[in-house]
Amino acid sequence: DGSITATTVYSPEVRSCFPLCASNLLQGLSDNHHLRFNGRQQLSFFLKGIGMSVDEAMKFWTDAFTSGGSMTLERFNKEYRYNFRHNYSLEGNRINYKPWDCRTILSKPRPAKGEYHGCPYRDWNPDKLATHLTNMKLTHLEINSVLDSCQHNEYTVACTKVYEFTNPTNNTLEVPITDQTHITHPNLFFDRARCHRD
Ligand code: SF4
Repeated sequence: DGSITATTVYSPEVRSCFPLCASNLLQGLSDNHHLRFNGRQQLSFFLKGIGMSVDEAMKFWTDAFTSGGSMTLERFNKEYRYNFRHNYSLEGNRINYKPWDCRTILSKPRPAKGEYHGCPYRDWNPDKLATHLTNMKLTHLEINSVLDSCQHNEYTVACTKVYEFTNPTNNTLEVPITDQTHITHPNLFFDRARCHRD
């Protein structure tokens, strides 16, 4: 039925709709079986925003943290469970937390080594970003256009361009970025990519 579960979140169909910040977090989590606080918050709220239920979220985080073999279920429950339940307003002050928009993400401290939160269009060096965009099958001209926006600190514009290049509605390199098309929220990127491909 297209719902996002602890398993379907890893499917290529779902992952291909993730903006780079979210796929970077998912990759970091898969590689390390752990994310530090800001990464946990950013990914957890994003997944909540794409419709992952609290039950599926608890399954998702438990599996991700314990499947590496170094964290026991007991330790996960003791140290991390509360954090994820809290993000779904089941613990503590029960504030209904909203998924972070790009502005919030960009206002947090930049990721240190071993951290995966933030915005790759700001935080990755141009070589790493270019390699990644090449793997995503962007052309040279498209990659230069994205890097140019990054250099001008226009990270959401860079991200919008990547969306347009990977979900083309026209064939021009000049993507008209207007209030209607400008992507300023990771969940907006996801929703738009999902509708486009469904
Ligand atoms: Fe994520 Fe926003 Fe950066 Fe795109 S511009 S990668 S949605 S934080």
